[in-house]
Amino acid sequence: MSRRRQIYEGKAKILYEGPEPGTIIQYFKDDATAFNAQKKGTINGKGVINNRISEHVFLKLAQIGIPTHFIRRLNMREQLVRQVEIIPLEVVVRNVAAGQLSKRLGIEEGEQLPHTLIEYYLKADELGDPLVAEEHIACFNWAGYEEMQDIASMAIRVNDFMSGMFAAIGIRLIDFKLEFGRLWEEDFSRVILADEISPDNCRLWDMVSGEKLDKDRFRRDLGGEEQAYQEVARRLGLLQGEDDTGPGEVLDMSAHRSRLRQGPGKGKK
Ligand code: 5GP
Repeated sequence: MSRRRQIYEGKAKILYEGPEPGTIIQYFKDDATAFNAQKKGTINGKGVINNRISEHVFLKLAQIGIPTHFIRRLNMREQLVRQVEIIPLEVVVRNVAAGQLSKRLGIEEGEQLPHTLIEYYLKADELGDPLVAEEHIACFNWAGYEEMQDIASMAIRVNDFMSGMFAAIGIRLIDFKLEFGRLWEEDFSRVILADEISPDNCRLWDMVSGEKLDKDRFRRDLGGEEQAYQEVARRLGLLQGEDDTGPGEVLDMSAHRSRLRQGPGKGKK
């Protein structure tokens, strides 16, 4: 049993106090919610897969110079990250019309946008995360002018990098959501990428078939969400069982738990 102090439990993750000051442990759950938590369910093995996919993407982004909160993955479901002051905005980047954009403006899903759109939503569950303009952000000081410049330029760089990364494995990056935080150093803060990047907060469509490989399978009752998340991890080369904590070992959590109960070397052919 863990005696770590829990800081926060969200819809898909739990945050615990980290081993050193200024660090946090992100625990990835299998719980899935949609439509402001009106729909709830479980996607078996999702936490394991998202932990791996997010680690992979954050490491790649760090390599191209995007500052992120990621420090290292600790185990199947946990990663060590830097503690930040979360900026209360969801930053959505869209390349192709889908989801709320299609609904709000009546644009057919799948229509390529003339150029990439960045939208901002206020992180406020009680208000249903409303769309806000940059004027609102400035007026209520949710983020400063320079912070917004940094956020927009990082969002575009993340989009360029991820569009290429997914295109190389036959996946079209439709849209995604980012969150940013302030990292304080004495009296100064800088903005870094936080939260996670996974099929929970990206729309990913197979380039040939158009099949959805993301959380829309759950949101829209399409079924096959576990296989879709696995497929993204497999194409990224993360399901080869490189080590004994690879998700391939633990996608089926009930089978995994029963193996653990039976003891080492048992219950597995
Ligand atoms: P939409 O605004 O069309 O619902 O979502 C746009 C993109 O941002 C999608 O890729 C969606 O997964 C992501 N997104 C927007 N809001 C949220 C949210 O509250 N939680 C998660 N996990 N993803 C979100």
